[in-house]
Amino acid sequence: MMTTELEQLRTEIDEISLKILDLLNERGTLVQQIGKLKETQGVKRFDPIRERKLLDLIAEHNDGPFETSTIHHIFKKIFQASLELQEDDNRKALLVSRKKKPEDTIVNVKGERIGDGQTHFVAGPCAVESYEQVRQVAQAISQQGLTLLRGGAYKPRTSPYDFQGLGFEGLQILRKAADEFNLAVVSEILNPNDLETALDYVDVIQIGARNMQNFDLLKAAGQVRKPILLKRGLSATIEEFMYAAEYILAQGNSEIILCERGIRTYEKATRNTLDISAVPILKKETHLPVMVDVTHSTGRKDLLLPCAKAAIAIGADGVMAEVHPDPAVALSDSAQQMNIPEFNEFMSALKKSAALAF
Ligand code: PEP
Ligand code: MN
Repeated sequence: MMTTELEQLRTEIDEISLKILDLLNERGTLVQQIGKLKETQGVKRFDPIRERKLLDLIAEHNDGPFETSTIHHIFKKIFQASLELQEDDNRKALLVSRKKKPEDTIVNVKGERIGDGQTHFVAGPCAVESYEQVRQVAQAISQQGLTLLRGGAYKPRTSPYDFQGLGFEGLQILRKAADEFNLAVVSEILNPNDLETALDYVDVIQIGARNMQNFDLLKAAGQVRKPILLKRGLSATIEEFMYAAEYILAQGNSEIILCERGIRTYEKATRNTLDISAVPILKKETHLPVMVDVTHSTGRKDLLLPCAKAAIAIGADGVMAEVHPDPAVALSDSAQQMNIPEFNEFMSALKKSAALAF
């Protein structure tokens, strides 16, 4: 007798739970519709006044046995989940997302197809200092069979008293040295006003970590027809990094290479902390090619090779490293740049390491 009553009540509980489930999902569907409307109208998703009204309405109608505070607690969870549902939809709809475009984006730089499944290398000095300095590195790169030469003409230095780069002259030097060895130039632009001039000298425009959230620069980079190498901000989350790329893509430029370059953490053994898992996350969430800058992420020459191997093993489309003919006298990042024999060793070790094709 007792058992059948218990069973009966449990059956009723199951039925009510399923009804609650249906109602919750019905509510979720409405929330998604509201999210879409808000998006087209440019209205903010979070609406505290509306939430307050709903909580008051619930309090008015609550006849127990649950306390109103308990019911409020449950509904606040529902509100939170609803907001997350809208945000998920928003993320799925991003132009950079793999859900939007399932196939890999391949960025073609002078025949080098970054994102094609092979490993690509960007190498060169931190800053352009002289023609002879860049030419020596360009020659070494070319001898290794590589085609992407980097070098900073405009340097985003933490201190205003540090070497700020040669500016336009630096771009001219890069172009000249690159042309001599038939290389492509990757160089950072800091100011949207310099973009147009840079187009004549640079094959890939780099947006540096310090400028990942320089929204005017991102928008301007979205309007040019040149590949953009976007570096992850010093303290940027993966989500913020993706939104930064979205700024560029939303303006019509889909040739974007993402570059993980380490993030700021409490760890002091390395200059930054290489967030290696960001690579497969970005590969999964976006359709864009992903590179790893082993120089700025570690700031240590002894870690360049193991980190480059890790980057390749985990699925990076490319590796960036700094090379200087005489790092001891370099005007920036002198401790972390490889000299040319070190670079040659680095490349031979990588070429030897398992199943590496490039
Ligand atoms: C660079 O690559 O020259 C550079 C300044 O790196 P980051 O923006 O990642 O610090
Ligand atoms: Mn540097």
